[in-house]
Amino acid sequence: MTAQILVVDDVQANIKLLEAKLSSEYYDVITARDGFEALTQAKEHKPDLILLDVMMPGMDGFETCKKLKEDIELSHIPVVMVTALSEKSDRLKGLESGADDFLTKPINDMALFARMRSLVRIKLLLDELRLRDKTSLQMGIQPDVKNAFISDVSGARILLVDDDETQGKQIVAKLGEIYTVEWIKDSEQAMVKSTQENFDTIIISTLLSDADGLRLASQIKSHVETRNVPLLVFVDEDDSRTMFKALEMGINDYLTVPVDKNEMTARMRTQIRRKKYQEALKSTYQQSISMAITDGLTGLYNRHYLNTHLDNMVKQSLQNGKYISLMIMDMDHFKQVNDTYGHDVGDMVLKQLADIIIQASRSTDLAARFGGEEFVILMPETDPQAALGAANRMREIVEAYEFSIGEGAPPLRKTASIGLATLHPDGDSGESLLKRADEALYIAKNSGRNAVKVSTKMVPSGW
Ligand code: GH3
Ligand code: MG
Ligand code: MG
Repeated sequence: MTAQILVVDDVQANIKLLEAKLSSEYYDVITARDGFEALTQAKEHKPDLILLDVMMPGMDGFETCKKLKEDIELSHIPVVMVTALSEKSDRLKGLESGADDFLTKPINDMALFARMRSLVRIKLLLDELRLRDKTSLQMGIQPDVKNAFISDVSGARILLVDDDETQGKQIVAKLGEIYTVEWIKDSEQAMVKSTQENFDTIIISTLLSDADGLRLASQIKSHVETRNVPLLVFVDEDDSRTMFKALEMGINDYLTVPVDKNEMTARMRTQIRRKKYQEALKSTYQQSISMAITDGLTGLYNRHYLNTHLDNMVKQSLQNGKYISLMIMDMDHFKQVNDTYGHDVGDMVLKQLADIIIQASRSTDLAARFGGEEFVILMPETDPQAALGAANRMREIVEAYEFSIGEGAPPLRKTASIGLATLHPDGDSGESLLKRADEALYIAKNSGRNAVKVSTKMVPSGW
């Protein structure tokens, strides 16, 4: 896949130059002439990276960057500021406004491409996670992901691997103002520590006296436990070779020695924010999976999950020649509970009924909420007699149960009706099994409720 880059510059010649360079590296380039157009283009195309000129009339690069980072739809797109200024305060201002990096004109091609590859790689990873998030949204689940740029970073845990006594002390002092910093001088010890504890960023000096810092970085990158932890390396100012090598290897960022403490703080913040954002996306994804298969009120599996699972179970049972039985339970006159005590009490009763079902069923059974006050219990390896025994026991437990309907109120007694069916090896499917149990339930209701009825069609005998 070709990454798309948005180039923003008010000077047409600069745009042309960058466009040519980027196209020759097979990037797909779109352009904007000022900050306003940049925002429009970014919204419309959602590029993979933005190269942003600082000095522009109207809205300058800092301002544009801030606006980009405030937009939840755009905040995860990496921004590299391009400028003729090389003042430290400007670099800092750029990073503070949310830029991921800073390149000074005239642009060193190697630096540009190495940096871009690294940022685009991370962006694509985020895209994948964001896409999963979108699926959750389409399923009606509202993920609670914050703006990538705004997440709180205080209290994050940093591992510093550096054997330079003076530099180490200064860095621990500076980063210690915001983060918890663990400082280790020995690289082997660092490797062990990095896999044992959960760090939000790892900083490694490539100037270690008796170890290869890049090698350590690459080991950490290839470890399952640590491969997603942002890595930042210290590199000698004149050692551009190590710099490029580091970026090519997938190191997230580098700082040149002597380290500018403010720039370090700004770059660290970017890394930690991105990590937190990534974690937030992952956890909402997991949450949405569990939300997608369970029922919010009762915590039982939902109908959608039951349908999928039922088909698999039925196939398996048919293959292995094993019994499988299914019951549908429906509370009798449940509507009265709502009508008399209100919907909230109705919910309480349903929740308690679900708990009863869980308590009374075996661990191999699968209980699902099938509809409002209808529950399905799928019972693998259960013959008709055993199923009938289980259903009657379940009915009796419900009948005897005292449903609590709130403090002070006397408990409520309810009954339930149950329809039962056992899979027939000839011609039964998950769907027909369910249908037969439902027909039996209908008969149980008509017989006066608080009853168990068995589907009379296709009852298997002696297989
Ligand atoms: P029957 O004995 O024939 O089953 O009568 P019933 O009143 O239990 O059945 P009916 O199907 O007439 O009513 C079911 C009621 O369940 C209607 C609906 O408003 C209510 N209901 C469905 N889902 C929920 C829910 O999640 N919470 C609450 N409180 N009520 C629900
Ligand atoms: Mg009912
Ligand atoms: Mg009903």
